[in-house]
Amino acid sequence: MSRVYNFSAGPAVLPEEVLREAADEMLDYKGTGMGVMEMSHRSAAFQQIIDEAEADIRDLYGIPDNYKVLFLQGGASQQFAAIPMNLRKNGKAAYIVTGQWAKKAAAEAEKFIEVDRVASSDDKTFSYIPDCSDLDIPEDADYVYICENNTIYGTKYHTLPNTKGHTLVADVSSCFLSEPIDVEKYGVIYGGAQKNIGPAGVTIVIIREDLIPQEVDKSIPTMLAYKTQADAGSLYNTPPCYGIYICGKVFKWIKKMGGLTAMNELNEKKAKILYDYLDESEMFKGTVVKEDRSLMNVPFVTGDEELDAKFVAEAKEAGFENLKGHRTVGGMRASIYNAMPIEGVEALVEFMKKFEKENA
Ligand SMILES: *Cc1c(COP(=O)(O)O)cnc(C)c1O
Repeated sequence: MSRVYNFSAGPAVLPEEVLREAADEMLDYKGTGMGVMEMSHRSAAFQQIIDEAEADIRDLYGIPDNYKVLFLQGGASQQFAAIPMNLRKNGKAAYIVTGQWAKKAAAEAEKFIEVDRVASSDDKTFSYIPDCSDLDIPEDADYVYICENNTIYGTKYHTLPNTKGHTLVADVSSCFLSEPIDVEKYGVIYGGAQKNIGPAGVTIVIIREDLIPQEVDKSIPTMLAYKTQADAGSLYNTPPCYGIYICGKVFKWIKKMGGLTAMNELNEKKAKILYDYLDESEMFKGTVVKEDRSLMNVPFVTGDEELDAKFVAEAKEAGFENLKGHRTVGGMRASIYNAMPIEGVEALVEFMKKFEKENA
C-alpha cells in the first residue's frame, strides 16, 4: 500500500491513525459483533458514539451550554436555505460576499428573505477580505452572514466583522476545528465535515438556543427545522451514522494532538513553509492579499497556463495529488488541512523548487 500526499479541497485527507482504527473496527465495533455501518442508530452503542462526538467537539471549541450541536445531512449547501428559514424574524439579513460559497448562500437566502449584500470582494476576484469594521448593516437585519474561510479563493477572516450587535452566522466548512474560536461571538457556526473533520455526509451546526424558533413556521420542512433536530438530539430520523463515528474519531485525534491551540500552531507552521516559498519564488505566486491568507487553502499560479498544467501533471506523477485549482479559478491550490502532515508540505515545497529550477 502506498499513500499519496492528498491536497484535495474536499473530501480531503483524514488522519491515517483514524482510518486505521476505523479499519480495525470495520467488522466488529468494540465486541458488538457488527460494524458501525450495520448498527441501529437507536442502539446503545451508537448513542454512545454520538454522545461522545458531541462531548468532544464541545470540549475542543469550549461550546457553552446554551448552544446546541446538531449532526445533520444535506451538506453545507442545505444550510444556505435552513439558516434564513429558521432565523428570519424581520425577514432581512446582511451578507458579506467573499467568494462562491457566500455568493451561493446569499442567492439561496434570497428565496426566503430580503438579502442585503453589505460588502463584497468580487471586484478583485475575491482575492481579499473587505474591511468589515464599519459596515452599513440594516438595523432590522436578522443576522450577518460570512463564509469565514474561502475554500476556493484561499482567503480567511482574521478579524470577525463588526456586526453592530447583530447575530453572526458563519460557514466554517473549510476551517472547522483548525484553530480555537470564541463561540459566544457567533449565533450559528456550521460546516460540512468533508473538508477538515470527517467524511462527506455530515454537516455540523452549532447554534445558540434562543435562535431556534419554538413556533415553527409551517412552510419549513420538518427536516429543515432546527427545533426538530435539536429536540431529537440529531436522531429525528436516521443520521449519517458512520460519518458521525469518523468525525468523533477525528475529534479524539485532535485532542490527542494537543487540542485546537496546538492544531493552530501546527497549521501556521505548515502554511508558513508554503507561503514563505511562494514569496521568494520567481515562478510561483500566491494569488491573495497577504493579510487575508488562509491557513487551509493555498492557491498559487505561475502566470502561464501551460506551465501550470505541466506542474500539476508532474506533481501527480511524484505523488502529490489534487493540486489543480478550482475549475472557476485555474492555477493550483494546495489544501493543507489539519490532517496534512508537515512532511507533506515540506515535500511539496521541495518538489516546487526542483520544478522551478528545471523549468526556469
Ligand atoms: C465545500 C463548501 C461548501 C459546500 O459544501 P457541501 O457540503 O458540498 O454542500 C460550502 N461552504 C464552504 C466554505 C465550502 O468549502
